[in-house]
Amino acid sequence: MEKITLFWFRRDLRLEDNTGLFYALQQEKNVLPIFIFDRNILDKLEDKADARVEFIHSQLAEIKSQLEEKGSSLLVRYGTPEEIYRKLLNEFDIQAVYTNRDYEPYAKERDSKIESLLKENGITFLSFKDQVIFEPGEILNGSGEFYKVFTPFSRNWLEKYRSTKVQPLENPAWKNLHPISSLPMISLVEMGFEKTAIQIPPKVADQDIISHYDKTRNFPSQHGTSRLGIHLRFGTVSVRKLAQVAAQLNDTYLNELIWREFYMMILAYNPQVVDRAFKPAYDQIPWRNNTDEFQAWCEGKTGFPIVDAGMRELNNTGYMHNRVRMVVASFLTKHLLIDWRWGEAYFAKKLLDFDLSANNGGWQWAAGTGTDAQPYFRVFNPDSQTEKFDKDLKYIKKWIPELGTSKYPKPIVDHKFARVRAIDTYKQALNQ
Ligand code: FAD
Repeated sequence: MEKITLFWFRRDLRLEDNTGLFYALQQEKNVLPIFIFDRNILDKLEDKADARVEFIHSQLAEIKSQLEEKGSSLLVRYGTPEEIYRKLLNEFDIQAVYTNRDYEPYAKERDSKIESLLKENGITFLSFKDQVIFEPGEILNGSGEFYKVFTPFSRNWLEKYRSTKVQPLENPAWKNLHPISSLPMISLVEMGFEKTAIQIPPKVADQDIISHYDKTRNFPSQHGTSRLGIHLRFGTVSVRKLAQVAAQLNDTYLNELIWREFYMMILAYNPQVVDRAFKPAYDQIPWRNNTDEFQAWCEGKTGFPIVDAGMRELNNTGYMHNRVRMVVASFLTKHLLIDWRWGEAYFAKKLLDFDLSANNGGWQWAAGTGTDAQPYFRVFNPDSQTEKFDKDLKYIKKWIPELGTSKYPKPIVDHKFARVRAIDTYKQALNQ
């Protein structure tokens, strides 16, 4: 049997500045990179035209051809990680498995199972920090506890970032790749998926956008944010390189990268937030959960233009501007008193940049149930939000061409009434 070391790609789909791959190539010989299309995840996706699966597939094809130029290839398998590793143990004499750490609950459970399986077979499993600058546990308060509030977390994060000088890695020792001729790769169709018409934003950190980010980021009609969410999600851009650019060009942008790590840390320390409110008292809120109203929200037919524009942008592009995400999430949870978990699940299905920690954090922030959240008595007024951030209705008209005609629905609820109802309902549930 061939002696090899595996490097296992997951949410780090790039060759350059990839920590686990770098160390595998530095410390081992015959390194064969592998990716597993995980059926535990894929089988749960209801819509088989999923732009994210298509994106992963296309990035792997790119990585495979880059590896082939270097005389190696990429081993792509389809199944559950456990069954794939059992098969690999019979096919190869595996010396070690290198990978980058992932902090989501499913990923941690998966990795601990694979680590035990490998250990039983005398194989080491080495994991590295890669998708974050600082991982959960590295930024703690004076008592050694995790931060529940963002501002002191970000202060501590910044101090540490400046003092440790986090740098991207140099090119690894490509000569240590396993020499092999081109390996076949499973197609989307063979996995039961299809191509979509959704466009993926380019993998480029636009310096012009990042430089002006603090001034442009709140206006949904402008291209004023980086659109790098999907690339950070799947590691097609390196967070170290991006943070380096941000630190030179715009502190507000760097701050958003810190929010990303804050929510990852919150999820890692509080895995219960996946199903429950971060603040337990908020699990008492009697959500109305009206299914017709939920449907109108999903389809962008609530009669509130800023909400409907956002939902239509999401349904058509897989993206929604952050300002509008806050407005639609507040509207669903407060105006309609629909459980934040319903909105969270809808976003999880549709967002290209879906990330469990950021999505859960964003929804719990909007619903007031989360750490450092919007207080329950602050209910966004959709009209004032429009006045502030889309004054000339450019964004709204782009998504609602029938605005002002009889084809556009009437508001499904009265704003003043809904505001009072939300505050009263929260107040009562919280005994305040
Ligand atoms: P930019 O504004 O250019 O920011 C750069 C990067 O910083 C983003 O790509 C993202 O990785 C990170 N970032 C920015 N804002 C936040 C934030 N508030 N929290 C965490 N990370 C942030 N972001 C996701 O990446 N995945 C999600 O599933 C997600 N769901 C959200 C749900 C709700 C209800 C809300 C209010 C926000 C959500 N966000 C989510 C945060 C934010 O809206 C998106 O990160 C951002 O809009 C993505 O666009 P961009 O790539 O142009 O980001």
